[in-house]
Amino acid sequence: MSETNSDPLRLVQPAATKVRDPVSGRSLWLAGMVREAALDDGVLTLELWFTPDHGRLDRKGLEQSLVANIRAQGFSGELKVIARMESSEPAETKPGGTVAGMNTPGAVAPHGGPIEKKALPGVKHIIAVASGKGGVGKSTVSTNLAVGLRQWGLSVGLMDADIYGPSLPTMLGATSRPLADQDRKIVPVQAYGIRTLSIGQLVPSDQAVIWRGPMVMGALRQFLQDTRWGDLDVLVIDLPPGTGDAQLSLIQSVDITGAVIVTTPQKVALDDCIRGIAMFGQLGVPVLGVVENMAWYELPDGTRDYVFGEGGGVKTAEEHGVPLLGQIPLQTQLRTSADRGQPAVLRDDALGQSFMSIARTVAESIGVR
Ligand code: ADP
Repeated sequence: MSETNSDPLRLVQPAATKVRDPVSGRSLWLAGMVREAALDDGVLTLELWFTPDHGRLDRKGLEQSLVANIRAQGFSGELKVIARMESSEPAETKPGGTVAGMNTPGAVAPHGGPIEKKALPGVKHIIAVASGKGGVGKSTVSTNLAVGLRQWGLSVGLMDADIYGPSLPTMLGATSRPLADQDRKIVPVQAYGIRTLSIGQLVPSDQAVIWRGPMVMGALRQFLQDTRWGDLDVLVIDLPPGTGDAQLSLIQSVDITGAVIVTTPQKVALDDCIRGIAMFGQLGVPVLGVVENMAWYELPDGTRDYVFGEGGGVKTAEEHGVPLLGQIPLQTQLRTSADRGQPAVLRDDALGQSFMSIARTVAESIGVR
């Protein structure tokens, strides 16, 4: 990374994402501890905010790790870390002033009041996978993210909230019908070591789901609350595409740790991706990052054909101050793996590694790895 690059987030964000804060259990980035980053004349300045719960050794260790990680990004210029201490006053009165576009955990609902969200007992983290449009690879990313997190040793559930286009049963080969236990709770279907639930497992594939909004919300509520998810490190939710009612209600009904947004590099998809980033921002859900799918197609001579445009997801992530989690090429093997119910993350090749790397970054940023 060039030191003359004027965007401090490109240095600070990946570094702060890798350092875990022992007090909040999250990365420094997600815990909102790194603020006011600026890069002027080759001098990188940032504020590192601690709480009274951080001991002196914690503070020193975290600062050193952050500096080491920024250096590891290739920055060798002058680096000024200003340590600051939060007062024990309520969050609303704490100093704000993050870098424009930075994640702002703890934001308020669009109507101005704090959002009241319920936790799911036994589920430590909920990650929503969203896209502005259908067909960009959201379900593909959800599936491979969930199985990838499992491969990294976490206990994982995957809930398909895409009621009108449920593709997870096919992508995971998990088509059997979920059973109910003696308490009439739904028991998720196991596949590749994860627990899955989709309307596609309940409605025969040749029947359309013709439901109005309230029925969809009723089904999603049941999927969340009336399902025996058990103890999970992470529940991945594959949201319906777009920023409509179902998405809003679902996001507001549970405590979501963060969102992953999937897009292709094409302008029409990116515009919707930006709307998605804005929606999560307004709802106070941190965006863990963007996955650029169908980023290129590799021709037989090894050159790349940028079918949907070059680097659009990378640029959008940069411009909106959210991390880029990875780029996935347009690849026949990805489509065939999905159709066979064999997630590509399990492949022993570059494609598998790309998905494993996305899963690792997500796990690190929510502080479970
Ligand atoms: P969404 O959930 O956004 O509607 P899907 O994940 O269902 O999109 O993907 C749509 C189709 O495109 C599926 O058949 C999937 O296998 C295929 N697909 C997704 N990403 C890729 C890719 N990078 N290369 C090839 N096929 C892909």
